[in-house]
Amino acid sequence: MDQFTSIAEQRAWSRGQRRAGKRVGFVPTMGALHEGHLSLIRQARASTDVVCASIFVNPTQFDRPEDFAKYPITLDQDLAMLRDAGCDAVFLPTKEDLYPEGFSTFVEMVGPLTDKMCAATRPGHFRGVTTIVAKLFHIVEPDVAVFGQKDLQQALIIGRMVRELDFGLEIQIGPTVREKDGLAMSSRNRRLSVVERRIALALPRGLELANRLFKSGTRESIKLIEVLGTEVLQEEGTALDYAEIVDLRDFGEVETATDSSVLAAAMFVGEVRLIDHIKLGGAAMPVTIDE
Ligand code: AMP
Repeated sequence: MDQFTSIAEQRAWSRGQRRAGKRVGFVPTMGALHEGHLSLIRQARASTDVVCASIFVNPTQFDRPEDFAKYPITLDQDLAMLRDAGCDAVFLPTKEDLYPEGFSTFVEMVGPLTDKMCAATRPGHFRGVTTIVAKLFHIVEPDVAVFGQKDLQQALIIGRMVRELDFGLEIQIGPTVREKDGLAMSSRNRRLSVVERRIALALPRGLELANRLFKSGTRESIKLIEVLGTEVLQEEGTALDYAEIVDLRDFGEVETATDSSVLAAAMFVGEVRLIDHIKLGGAAMPVTIDE
């Protein structure tokens, strides 16, 4: 597996691959890799000839400095996992190269996708995401980039950015990979103590309970959200950051849920913020793939 830290070297590799007639797949990550990330690598590999991953903990997308400071870093293990998953190249840029002093150009989306849910409670977060992803796309020049459905709002924002700014690449979304007990895999799960790890299960459990209520005929969003809220808040040391039911097609808030509605939520367990969602009427969790 090739490893590059310089922008020029990474770009030269990608251009070389494309000149040789190969389609380049790309999976951007912030490291502390798990099976969810690897599933995206495999998905990219299935529709391209060579796959590049990037590992960069992007400072501009953190709204809380302490969250950035505590973001887990497991580089040696990450590189071994990428190698085993058949990744061809990994881009490990430095903060100084990506954000040189005086950096002043940002990519910012406006409108319903970026004014609710994770955007409402994390000011500047998606501006940081769209900026870093646009930069990485310009450096790696992929044919296909794969993002996780786990971060649904992010995946939809990036898909829209690519369309509206004519990036000319294909965005694919890979399903959320879960632990056997239903918790969505996340790099942040490593920060949970044993007790917190158990408490975190209230999130997928609450989503599943709301989904069951929906399947049994309840359509009022407020009632479905209440079930989730009650489940999460009955655990000690939790706080609900948001819980919303939105339409998957336009991300508009819905008062009466339908088969195209998504219940999405973010909760704090102690200091750790976890997100998850479920498509109402969809399959029961846990959803696992590639097993
Ligand atoms: P991150 O390293 O958290 O920035 O995530 C990098 C990519 O992996 C993003 O596209 C995430 O949506 C995706 N991802 C994170 N967790 C999972 C998961 N449990 N299943 C599938 N994809 C995931």
